[in-house]
Amino acid sequence: MSPQLEAIIGLEVHAQMNTKTKLFCGCDNDAFGKAPNTTVCPICMGHPGTLPVPNREAIMKAIKASLALKCTLNRKNHFDRKHYFYPDLPAGFQISQYDFPLASKGLVEYELPSTAHGGGAGDGGRRCHITRLHMENDAGKLTHRAGKTLCDYNRAGTPLMEIVTEPDLRSKEEAVAFAQELRRILIAVDASEADMFKGMMRFDASISLREKGDTKLNPRSEIKNLNSFKALERALEYEEKRLRKQWEEDKGPLKGNITVGWMDDEGKTRLLREKETADDYRYFPEPDIPPLDLPKELIVELEKDLPMLPQELKKKYLDLKLTPAEALLLVDQPALCEAFEAVYAKTKDAKRASSIVLTQLLGFLNAHGKQIAGGPDRKAIVDLVSFIEDGTISGNAAKEVLEEMVVTGKTAAAIIKEKGMQQISDTGAIETLVEQAIAKNPEAIESYKKGKAAALGAIVGWVMKESKGQANPKIVNEILQKKIGM
Ligand code: ZN
Ligand code: MN
Repeated sequence: MSPQLEAIIGLEVHAQMNTKTKLFCGCDNDAFGKAPNTTVCPICMGHPGTLPVPNREAIMKAIKASLALKCTLNRKNHFDRKHYFYPDLPAGFQISQYDFPLASKGLVEYELPSTAHGGGAGDGGRRCHITRLHMENDAGKLTHRAGKTLCDYNRAGTPLMEIVTEPDLRSKEEAVAFAQELRRILIAVDASEADMFKGMMRFDASISLREKGDTKLNPRSEIKNLNSFKALERALEYEEKRLRKQWEEDKGPLKGNITVGWMDDEGKTRLLREKETADDYRYFPEPDIPPLDLPKELIVELEKDLPMLPQELKKKYLDLKLTPAEALLLVDQPALCEAFEAVYAKTKDAKRASSIVLTQLLGFLNAHGKQIAGGPDRKAIVDLVSFIEDGTISGNAAKEVLEEMVVTGKTAAAIIKEKGMQQISDTGAIETLVEQAIAKNPEAIESYKKGKAAALGAIVGWVMKESKGQANPKIVNEILQKKIGM
């Protein structure tokens, strides 16, 4: 009988930081949509004689991310040179951190989506320890085309956080769920945009097999170049199957560590090399940058300023009686979250805020193919809510206004004015309408008097219709109650 095997998985994640400038020079860090080799200077091009100057903003962001990952900050840390030759690395070395990284020993608590573990609340909780977080500069980008290679150094020098996990993950589902939670955390502390489409977050995954119950780690296969959650999932699935098959053939694990590349088009991995050891990189302390000695007060300050993290935020929304799906939408999209918080602060009604922001706003954005970033901002939405609160428009009319806001970008006030949508709250006018309604609907009054409270709906309906929906229903009801109560 073949032994029961389990997969042991660890991740190495590179996340670009969303700083204004690069890690060691003043070049624009946002190269998106810019012509190749236009956001470069002699420093990030590795010219001899230039001196790197560490970017304070990048260090602050990396500290915040470390704290959010519950890491221990190593107040004394320094940069090292990691030597390797590659055409996308103009200096011939990367400035990274080796034996004294910025932070170590962290923990991420995350949840498996309920579908992946058969449902049931609360039993999807998982933990993954973080080995280390360090800072380093990104390389340029190579494009291989028609037998030629094009080099674009715009990305060279972009600040990266390299985050390495312990081998705590046991399946591709856990790896993906962890990676998604990590992404939420980095976004929450504003350390990275972590936009997968722009390659701002990239994974290498290590996987090995062992017999269940064993505690020692076997040699692993490291899968390089995973640029999406989908690629991470597919690559791990493929490699686990491959290693299981190989285990049967060899009657055991890999003989030594290997590095493979994920070929996304072919859906398979390909052997690249036997793993370099750290010695091959000839690490030594970067002589041009003094060691960092972070003041304790700075770390305390940054820790105090940390925003609410995704798990806490999710719990908060569940406590407000939002559904798990609604909570996740808010946690995953900071802009929606801001809008929700603003409406909730105004209405103190979570269900209503969710209906306005997650059902209506998000629905209209999706229906019109718009992004939240280009849609009405939280102030515009709160203004709209104010108009409902003060009776200027009804909740129903507000939906129409919101859709118009999404489509045209106009303010609620402008749309209400343009369309003459103000509610009639003038009690005199409404009273006249109610009197007419009573006169025209004697049967409704009859059945009401016989005990059918619902019959009044017809009266209110008549008034609303007659006023083209602009009578304030609250006032209509009040006046009607008064009239028939007499
Ligand atoms: Zn530069
Ligand atoms: Mn790295």
